Amino acid sequence: MPDYETFEHDVLVIGAGGAGLRAAIEASAVGVRVGLVCKSLLGKAHTVMAEGGIAAALGNVDERDNWKVHFADTMRGGQYVNQWRMAEVHAKEAADRVRELEAWGALFDRTKDGKILQRNFGGHRYPRLAHVGDRTGLEMIRTLQDHGVHQGIDVHMEHTILSLLKDGDRIVGAFGYERERGRFKIFRAKAVVLATGGIGRAYKITSNSWEYTGDGHALAYEAGAELIDMEFIQFHPTGMVWPPSVMGILVTEGVRGDGGILTNNKGRRFMFDDIPDNYKAQTADNEEEGWRYCQGDKDARRPPELLTRDHVSRCIVREIKEGRGSPHGGVFLDISWIKQKMPNAAEYIKRKLPSMYHQFKQLADIDITEQAMEVGPTTHYIMGGVHVDPDTQMTRLPGLFAAGECAAGINGANRLGGNSLSDLLVFGKRAGEFAAKFAKENQYGTIDKHAIATVAHDALAWFEQSDGENPYQIQNDLQETMQDLVGIVRTESEMREALSKINSLKSRAAKAAVLGNREYNPGWHTALDLKNLLTISEAITRAALERKESRGAQFREDHPNKADTFSKVNTIVWKGREDSMQIRLEPLPEMPDYLKRVIEENA
Ligand SMILES: Cc1cc2nc3c(=O)[nH]c(=O)nc-3n(C[C@H](O)[C@H](O)[C@H](O)COP(=O)(O)OP(=O)(O)OC[C@H]3O[C@@H](n4cnc5c(N)ncnc54)[C@H](O)[C@@H]3O)c2cc1C
Repeated sequence: MPDYETFEHDVLVIGAGGAGLRAAIEASAVGVRVGLVCKSLLGKAHTVMAEGGIAAALGNVDERDNWKVHFADTMRGGQYVNQWRMAEVHAKEAADRVRELEAWGALFDRTKDGKILQRNFGGHRYPRLAHVGDRTGLEMIRTLQDHGVHQGIDVHMEHTILSLLKDGDRIVGAFGYERERGRFKIFRAKAVVLATGGIGRAYKITSNSWEYTGDGHALAYEAGAELIDMEFIQFHPTGMVWPPSVMGILVTEGVRGDGGILTNNKGRRFMFDDIPDNYKAQTADNEEEGWRYCQGDKDARRPPELLTRDHVSRCIVREIKEGRGSPHGGVFLDISWIKQKMPNAAEYIKRKLPSMYHQFKQLADIDITEQAMEVGPTTHYIMGGVHVDPDTQMTRLPGLFAAGECAAGINGANRLGGNSLSDLLVFGKRAGEFAAKFAKENQYGTIDKHAIATVAHDALAWFEQSDGENPYQIQNDLQETMQDLVGIVRTESEMREALSKINSLKSRAAKAAVLGNREYNPGWHTALDLKNLLTISEAITRAALERKESRGAQFREDHPNKADTFSKVNTIVWKGREDSMQIRLEPLPEMPDYLKRVIEENA
């Protein structure tokens, strides 16, 4: 085996988004040596795109808010298949993590008396999202990055990890390559934290960036960890559908929180037509009350546009299917209408939603203070991911931890907006803390040189196949398959068809050709990502087939209702013998009585 450059860190964190940075900060704070690897430049992780805010029950805008209401909202939003312990820890610790971010220098919008301002978001009973206009992710990354680099974390930018290294069952490092020059590197570590984000690039229409190719999910799966709830993909209801220059780009839920309304081509606010029973008591039944809620009237109930994302997405799909959609296959989202209610509406919109205003003005020549947007569901977030212990974030493999979007459990069948940024802070911290503890208690393991040689050989094989297919074409075909056959509305026959297509895409991917050399070669990067995308696409499809019911983000046309059999189980996927993907249903841990009471009291 060639003598690859080798780095040694007590804790290696893979991913420099909110979760990875928070984990790295926590680990280095207790005195262990930390390495941080990321595919792009530091500060460019996907977290930077987050807009609306961080959900935490600070109670600054409505003093009735507290961790119990946040917990109950999260469980209801997740349709009660969340790992209750994660939802509890998250609700209890999110407020402290936000205050800590503030102490580290994060700027937030403020209430009149100087507290962190909180805004309305779907599924949250009270205004709960701490924010900076609609650029919250940027501020979060900036703050964590500033704080982290001063703690002496070693950063390996523009590196992609291809494989986790094992000594027996234990994880002892990772193997990857430097994207610029294509050179392989070994990262020895006593503990590894996966914080690689999501999978949106498995679908054709997505709000996610190029980095979201499910790498952490696939790395964990290949190493022998379990994936949980992969069927639950969040299709955010309001991605732009027109013009093509902005297709898929997200319109933050903050637009609806600040008074934006959804209408069909008849001008009807169709969300009033379908309010689920378990949200009726909390939802306005007339437009006037909905507007008062957005203006901060504590006696008003929230408008139905702020129902959970799974439900709003399905209502939009229904309007489009039944012929009441907008000209380009969406519905209308309009914030400009508020000029009927306030004299300085344009200024208000520009102040509350500066990125939305500038982005769509510049990229699409749409002035959101004057006209409606055409929107439809876009693949946004995966609730499923690496199965971890709720307190320590460790997987079933000793030394392997996971946090952020690539880990799973807190959100159940549907994530409430804002609960991701708080998840990154709460569980990023915990992953860093427990990874550091593990590193202190264990020595470096032995590196398996044969395993490394195999990964390096496989990674270079595409260069030898000059007459094979272009990997972009295969990626494109996979995205179309997932979009058309495992999208918002699912059926058994279509998903079986998807599985067989994924199988043949795997054969095509194995024979793909990469031209040129290893120096910054996007074709090669695509071929390497493709392997992960194919693995997670199969996991999503198999889990969606196994859950024969509709719940949260999973809508099965052939099983349109919730089923008792699936009300207390998670789907678990793992790699079996001879590389075959295995799946089982696993009962959720029984929720303790004190939490059942919290849910009842906050129904
Ligand atoms: C447009 C948009 C707006 C959003 N707004 C909000 C919001 O307002 N509130 C909210 O709570 N959530 C929001 N979300 C969701 C939220 O932003 C994400 O879920 C969250 O940022 C994920 O953070 P992370 O730390 O898990 O991963 P990321 O921030 O995506 O970071 C992943 C990191 O892993 C690295 N990586 C990946 N694979 C590899 C590999 N193989 N080797 C090395 N490094 C690797 C990447 O380079 C990157 O550094 C939004 C999402 C989008 C798309």
